[in-house]
Amino acid sequence: MSVAFHGAEFCWMNGEVVETQKALVSAMEPIHLGIFEGIKAYVENDVNGKGRLSIFRWKSHVERLRRSAAICGLKISYTDEELLEATRETIEANGFDTNVYIQPRVWPKAGTTEEVHVVIPVWKFETILGKDNPKFSKSRRFMISTWRRIASDALPAQAKTWANYGNSALALREASRLGYDGAIFLDNRGFVSEGTGACVMAVRNGKIVTPPVTASILESVTRDTLLQIMPEDMRIPVEVRDIARVELYASDEVLLCGTGWEITPIASIDDLPLRKEYPGPLTNRIAEYYSEIVSGKIEKHKEWLTSAQ
Ligand code: PMP
Repeated sequence: MSVAFHGAEFCWMNGEVVETQKALVSAMEPIHLGIFEGIKAYVENDVNGKGRLSIFRWKSHVERLRRSAAICGLKISYTDEELLEATRETIEANGFDTNVYIQPRVWPKAGTTEEVHVVIPVWKFETILGKDNPKFSKSRRFMISTWRRIASDALPAQAKTWANYGNSALALREASRLGYDGAIFLDNRGFVSEGTGACVMAVRNGKIVTPPVTASILESVTRDTLLQIMPEDMRIPVEVRDIARVELYASDEVLLCGTGWEITPIASIDDLPLRKEYPGPLTNRIAEYYSEIVSGKIEKHKEWLTSAQ
């Protein structure tokens, strides 16, 4: 019997490509200090097609993996080049030629403080990007979570540690129990923080506003990408500052951005519809341009792409 993980027959584990069903660890493993990354490789020139894949911002993701490791006191013995080679081999072993999600995972081996497991699962995903993609314009009702985002003097919100996702899972479960599509957290001061797996941006008077890193947000690669391209390439003014909850209700548009969520429009928050038509004009423009960047259509941003082959 083959146990494929999200449809992937193979993953990479501690130095070699192995069958997913043989990627086993002891049930005694200490998993609470695990860290991970979420990275995407898109098909070149057509995010909804088939063909050669490029990994988006590989270097920034590996840098964040190493920052998360440093915060948790974990040492990754593989070089960046070895991790890239491992990722390429795993994509090849699975024979993937459509968009791929890559999720390197690192956690301490049972009974040691020094040694870690490094596992790289990869699997196919369906993008919400691409012209006229109906998944993009689906209506999404979000709520402000009654759970606050973890304060970074309790858990490192700025790092990608699994422990942080207990907080996200509680907020998501609450949202789905109450019939919403997702949740946005406030931080422990009461300002807008982030989504359960993505950063938040709001459109106010033609300007994008987004919370600072000190609002208990993950240091997001997608947020960083948008903060560069919006003012420089798209002439959209950006303000990084604390956002009050009421400002979200009174925004023209609100979007989520992240590797997993890509650019996701939100239609209402706490059942108060946002003020512009849905999806809003700036959200549409940003999603379209982001889609062109990740598929290698924008020459000046090809430096953000690394071949997955
Ligand atoms: N915040 C959280 C909590 C996340 O899990 C993610 C997804 N990694 C993000 C923000 C967005 O980060 P990135 O753009 O680097 O994927």
